[in-house]
Amino acid sequence: MKIFNSYTNQLETFVPRHQGIVSMYVCGPTVYNYIHIGNARPVVVFDTVRRYFESQGMVVKFASNFTDVDDKIIQKAKEEGVDEKTISEKYINAFLKDVASLNSRTDYIKPKVTEYMPKIVDYIQGLITIGYAYEIEGDVYFRVSKLKEYGQLSNRKLDDLISGSRIEINEKKESPLDFTLWKKTEEGIHWHTNFSDGRPGWHTECVAMIDDIFGEEIDIHGGGTDLMFPHHENEIAQSLAKNHHTVAHYWMHNGRLNLEGEKMSKSTGNVVLVKDLNVNKLAYRMFLLSTQYRSPLNYSPEALDVFDKEWQKVQKSVEQLYRLLDLNDQLKDNVVVNASDLVDINNYFIESMEADFNTPNALTALNQLMKAINSKLRQKPDFEWLNQAYALTSKFLFILGLDFNLTKLSIEEKSLIKQWEQARINKDFELADQLRQLLVSKGLI
Ligand SMILES: [Zn+2]
Repeated sequence: MKIFNSYTNQLETFVPRHQGIVSMYVCGPTVYNYIHIGNARPVVVFDTVRRYFESQGMVVKFASNFTDVDDKIIQKAKEEGVDEKTISEKYINAFLKDVASLNSRTDYIKPKVTEYMPKIVDYIQGLITIGYAYEIEGDVYFRVSKLKEYGQLSNRKLDDLISGSRIEINEKKESPLDFTLWKKTEEGIHWHTNFSDGRPGWHTECVAMIDDIFGEEIDIHGGGTDLMFPHHENEIAQSLAKNHHTVAHYWMHNGRLNLEGEKMSKSTGNVVLVKDLNVNKLAYRMFLLSTQYRSPLNYSPEALDVFDKEWQKVQKSVEQLYRLLDLNDQLKDNVVVNASDLVDINNYFIESMEADFNTPNALTALNQLMKAINSKLRQKPDFEWLNQAYALTSKFLFILGLDFNLTKLSIEEKSLIKQWEQARINKDFELADQLRQLLVSKGLI
C-alpha cells in the first residue's frame, strides 16, 4: 500500500505502527452551521480509507473531533439568543445526519473541546513548563522561533514567514509568528485557569485529544489541504515540542472542492449544503470519489447529474442480479471469487486502492464489473458466476461506501413472480397482465 505523505512530500509504503491496527485522526467540523458539500469531501475520503483498511482485515481506531468552542459559535448563540451548547448540539446532530446520508460511518470516537478542557489546559501548561510557550497578560502563545523544524509540512521557511507577516502595532507576542494557545476573555463560554479566564486557541485541541485517545504517535492524520497551514503546522509544532514526534507517521490531505470553479465559502454565500442536494446522496458520494482525493474537484449541477444517472444504472444492475439469485434460492454466503474475468477486475480494483487510494480507477473496475454482470443477465443464468459477481459487487460497494439495502423476497412474493412467469410461458396474457399490475403495485418489478 502506497500513501502520499504530505509531511515528507512523497509517496511512501504504508506500514502501520502496530501490525493489523490502523490509528487515524481527522480534523472535524466547527459546529455552528450545516455542512456544505465541500465539507463532505474529507468525510467521504477518510471514511473510504477506513473502509478499505477494514476490508483488508485491519482494525481501524478512528477519531474525529467536534470544535464546540469557537468565536463563530458564540456569535451564532448571541444572534439566536441561546447558549453555545444549544447551537453546538444542534449542529452536531445535523452533521451526523448529513454524514450518515452520505453513507459515511458515524461509529467513531468523537471528542468535544468542552469535554477536553482539563487536558487542553494541561497540555498548554506543559508547553509553558518546557519553555515552548509563554504567558503575557493572561494570553498564552507558542514560541515558534524555538522550533527549527517549523514550516516543514507546508513547505515554508521561518525567515520567509517572518518577512511575509505584518507586524501589528501593540502586538504583545514576542514574534508575529507565535500562535495563540490560550486567549484571555470573559465573553461567551470560558474557563478559569492559572493563566486567566478564557478559551483555548484552535490548534491545541486536536493534539491534546490525540495524546489522550491514542497515547502515542498515530498512523494517519487527515484533513483538507486548507488546514495544512497554520492548523496542522501548529499541531506538529506543539507535538514536536512536547513529544518529539510529528503527531502522525503519515499526513494525508484532500484537495479542495470548487463550486463552478470558485472556492466554496460560507462567507461569500457560494455554497450548496449537503442537506439540500436533490439527488441520491450516494450519487454525490460517487462524484466525490470520481477524482483522486489529492486533486481539486470541480462541482457543478451538470457534473453531478452525470453521476446521478451513473449511480442509478449501478443500482439497477445490482438489484437485478440480487433479485435473480434470490428468486432462484441461489444466494450463497462465503463465496470464493475464482472466475478469471472477475479475478482480473478484482485485481485492478485492489491495485487502484493500494496506489494512494485511486478511487477513480476503482470506480472504473466497478463499471467493468457492472458491464460483465449486465451481459450475463441477458444469458441463461450461470448461478456459480453470478454468485461470485454478487460477492465481488458487495465488496466493492462496501469499500467505496456505496452499499445499500437489498431485501429478500418473501415466499408469497416469490410465488407471485413465478406465477407471472408461468402465465407468460402459457401465453395467458390476461392473467399475466393482472399479475404484472399486482407486482408493479408492490414495487417488485
Ligand atoms: Zn485539527
